[in-house]
Amino acid sequence: MEQALSYNRTPARNSYDLVIVGGGIVGLATAREFLKRQPGIKLAVLEKEADIALHQSGHNSGVIHTGIYYTPGSLKAKACVAGHKEMLEYCDQHGISYELCGKVIVALDESELPKLAELYQRGLSNGVQGLELVGPERLKELEPYAAGIKAIYSPNTGIIDYVQVARSYAREIQQQGGEIVTGCQVMGLKDRAGHSVLNLKVDINTRLESEIQARFVVTCGGLQSDKLSRMSGKASPVQIVPFRGDYYVLRPEKRAMVKSMIYPVPDPRFPFLGVHFTRRMDGQVWAGPNAVLAFAREGYQRWKVNPAELLETFKFPGFWKMAGKYWKMGLEEMYRDYNKAGFVESLQRYMPEVTGEDLLPGPSGVRAQALAPDGRLVDDFLIQHGPNVAHVQNAPSPAATSSLVIARMIADEAGKDFNFADEVFRRTF
Ligand SMILES: Cc1cc2nc3c(=O)[nH]c(=O)nc-3n(C[C@H](O)[C@H](O)[C@H](O)COP(=O)(O)OP(=O)(O)OC[C@H]3O[C@@H](n4cnc5c(N)ncnc54)[C@H](O)[C@@H]3O)c2cc1C
Repeated sequence: MEQALSYNRTPARNSYDLVIVGGGIVGLATAREFLKRQPGIKLAVLEKEADIALHQSGHNSGVIHTGIYYTPGSLKAKACVAGHKEMLEYCDQHGISYELCGKVIVALDESELPKLAELYQRGLSNGVQGLELVGPERLKELEPYAAGIKAIYSPNTGIIDYVQVARSYAREIQQQGGEIVTGCQVMGLKDRAGHSVLNLKVDINTRLESEIQARFVVTCGGLQSDKLSRMSGKASPVQIVPFRGDYYVLRPEKRAMVKSMIYPVPDPRFPFLGVHFTRRMDGQVWAGPNAVLAFAREGYQRWKVNPAELLETFKFPGFWKMAGKYWKMGLEEMYRDYNKAGFVESLQRYMPEVTGEDLLPGPSGVRAQALAPDGRLVDDFLIQHGPNVAHVQNAPSPAATSSLVIARMIADEAGKDFNFADEVFRRTF
């Protein structure tokens, strides 16, 4: 049986070669990648929560995306296509279960056919393997309860539990001599004579304050990524706006209505894929997530409000520009969020036989969505780097699928500035 992982409650030393802030799947993959490249460096991953992967990495749909949706040539497209392959190889090597159950993206009527065709071409341009356009008969064979006149069938889309993947990355980090410290929040990040000084709150119970030094720092803070960027004195070009996504769960006796995954044709104006039906590794079937403005960055419940964070959102000019463009859609999403019948209605478009009775309230996730000052929802991955510090500013879906590749991108980019062989540095520490 696999041994349970345990993490440090305080950093074991005062100084490190490299500190990674954030114990989500991206931070852990990045730490693993640096240790592979620079074995023997003193590395710590600092995570503010009591365990790793408690935010986005532990609250997602659990889909291994293939790369159909993303703009050809974008980092997302490249990292997803390569990331899908590498994720499967990684899981095979480390005994992590996954299932390539496939998915369908369905066009409900004639009006959606041009977008479906465009999406299919996009998938082909991105090099996604095995895509098929299927008619209503084949769709019925694949998903007997799904509505639709035509669909893209993607046989290689898979499902997985990303917390298992994050734990496996953590195990490798520890095996390579890296440290993982949980309950350790970075409160400040300053440059002092060429190295970074991190102010920490450590130990969840005592909330002690402490200070460590690091030659190099990479922040992978998900919902807090812009705040971490500002801490180091870098003007963040974007602001994180949290979008909550709620799921319903199909009653166990109704699970057979979904064989794999049923997705809508997405609205190209938004980075979200639209509510979908997804089979989970434990056999459950989830329906969701919607996308509603959350009133707290870590606001997993509707009623959770963080006034300071909400004010921050409202003070950001980009928010009002976005709201001006998308207010109608925002109101519709809120209606569906507060009104189960509205949510069920939108699901019935894709599966007419599903009823409100069949759906139980499920979990929620909060997406860290970067917003530009001009109101644009930043679609692609965004990494900002300087001489000693790099910040991952936007790592939305499919960053879990792509985590191994994003880690390589970060190590390539930041590695141009991070010189671990620096003699002066070796003497200083
Ligand atoms: C609802 C939903 C569905 C999704 N579905 C999919 C999917 O099916 N497939 C897919 O590939 N992707 C999916 N995603 C996206 C994917 O989950 C994320 O892109 C990915 O998990 C991002 O990982 P991360 O490490 O950047 O962020 P996170 O997992 O959020 O980790 C960031 C970590 O940083 C820590 N942190 C923040 N500030 C500090 C600080 N000051 N000090 C110390 N620690 C700090 C946080 O506590 C957190 O643990 C989904 C996301 C959501 C929300």
